[in-house]
Amino acid sequence: MRNGASRILLACEVATGALLKADTARHLPPEGTYQCLDPNCGGDLNVCRWPNRPGQFYFRHRTASASAACGFHSSNERTQRRHEAAKHLLAVVLNEAIQHREPMPLLEFHVAGATRHVLPFIGAKRVVPEWECRRTGKRADIALLDGLDEPVLLIEVFHTHAVDRHKKKAYSDYWWIEVEANAIIANHGCLPVIHSGNLPYVFAPQAQQRTLPGMPVREW
Ligand SMILES: [Zn+2]
Repeated sequence: MRNGASRILLACEVATGALLKADTARHLPPEGTYQCLDPNCGGDLNVCRWPNRPGQFYFRHRTASASAACGFHSSNERTQRRHEAAKHLLAVVLNEAIQHREPMPLLEFHVAGATRHVLPFIGAKRVVPEWECRRTGKRADIALLDGLDEPVLLIEVFHTHAVDRHKKKAYSDYWWIEVEANAIIANHGCLPVIHSGNLPYVFAPQAQQRTLPGMPVREW
């Protein structure tokens, strides 16, 4: 099992519709009933103690047969279900963050040999899955829009196909990032950015390497 793939970190509490972390959802039925956030699954979840992590909990499908259809389950790691589940989870988490109910996920950039965590998208007012660019007709997996419905950030969820050059061109007016489906499922609070475009200069590839091997060090 990679990335704790069958271990689900967030679920919907059926009684209230609230999004809950496993650590705060420790009730057994009938006091607590929790539903999987994968819209194609929606199965019942149990709260389980995390082995070797005292006091920490995770969600797991009540039966093995129920989890077979679930995108969060490791058996679906290479399927389209995984992509759909990760996209939906990220849209839910971002929406919660915009409504100030959950922290905004941090974006993790690897720049100039260091890791930077960034939280720049406070201006977002709305999360739109499958956002379509009016100019080019291209669809982004998720868009964060401002109060005028203009994109603050486009997010592509990588599963089997990276952002290609046509999409890069279509997104040339916007800030965009690409994050991996498995990374979202493993930890939706911190998203390693695998590709990005048009972001402020410090995150751009040309800022990542100031000298090439063998090149004399110069002043910048
Ligand atoms: Zn499920």
